Amino acid sequence: MNPFKFLKAKSSKEAVAAMSDHKNAKFIGGGTNIIDLMKMNIEKPEYLIDITALDLKGIETLPNGNVRIGALVKNSDLAYNNIIKIRYPLLSDALLSGASPQLRNMATTGGNLLQRTRCPYFYDKVTPCNKREPGSGCSAIEGYNRKHAILGISDHCIATHPSDMCVAMAALDAIINAESPNGKRSINFEDFHLLPGNTPDKENSLLNDELITSVEIPPLPFASNSTYIKVRDRSSYEFALTSAAIALELNGDVISDARIALGGVGTKPWRAKDAEQSLKGKKASLETYRAAADIALKDAMTFKYNAFKTELAKRTIIAAFQNLEK
Ligand code: SF4
Repeated sequence: MNPFKFLKAKSSKEAVAAMSDHKNAKFIGGGTNIIDLMKMNIEKPEYLIDITALDLKGIETLPNGNVRIGALVKNSDLAYNNIIKIRYPLLSDALLSGASPQLRNMATTGGNLLQRTRCPYFYDKVTPCNKREPGSGCSAIEGYNRKHAILGISDHCIATHPSDMCVAMAALDAIINAESPNGKRSINFEDFHLLPGNTPDKENSLLNDELITSVEIPPLPFASNSTYIKVRDRSSYEFALTSAAIALELNGDVISDARIALGGVGTKPWRAKDAEQSLKGKKASLETYRAAADIALKDAMTFKYNAFKTELAKRTIIAAFQNLEK
């Protein structure tokens, strides 16, 4: 690990000022991803700004009905929060399917938004990787790409976004609140994570001196009927091959609204809005769900080892919808 200087910030104002004053600085909250990356010399900050003392640990319902989640709320606290469990079970399910209990007790909401891909070539410093070293090439495209993305890919990177929490937040149209020395702003969830394009090293729209302070989840009454299904190689401490965050509103046996977001298949948390639209007014049935799943995966592009993901993702969507009918 490279040497670094350390500041324990006492306020968000102090934290963003320190970030603004130092070129190669990083915030550290839970530390579950960045410490691993520092040990491997993939992240080499010269200045670490500890934000754990900041007052960003609350979960509250705002007057407009949004639920505001502080950036330092631990994943386990969020998953077991009663408001989240009752109003947004897909978010609770997604959080509890991620990592391990020990990691969920440390990982934070803000950090989860920023976790880096688990593409093995990204962590293997002897292989080319455009995300780690821009312009060096992508080892996964012709390599062992069984776990790589099939949606949102580019010629420069096909890595999946690793987060489960973010898939649920994509389905819920979350809003990310950030603060910098220039003030505060809110970012729509779909604008936060970036497609790899020509610059896979640039993963989100956060500015260098911005600190995530909270995430807001708008009210979505039918999200109380929602779920998250994750398909993976083992039942714990494993990333998704495919996953689906689904919410369903039924009027009798007719679908009046739905949300579909996918994990394990996209280079960013993947919302399937066309598929959602196709469901409205249709009778809830296997055929209806299958048609929507076909739409959700219509742009999939597969590689030598991950062609199975297209059908698996469709079946994951269908299984999640069928669970919600029970
Ligand atoms: Fe690097 Fe992305 Fe290629 Fe993986 S898929 S080797 S992260 S450029």
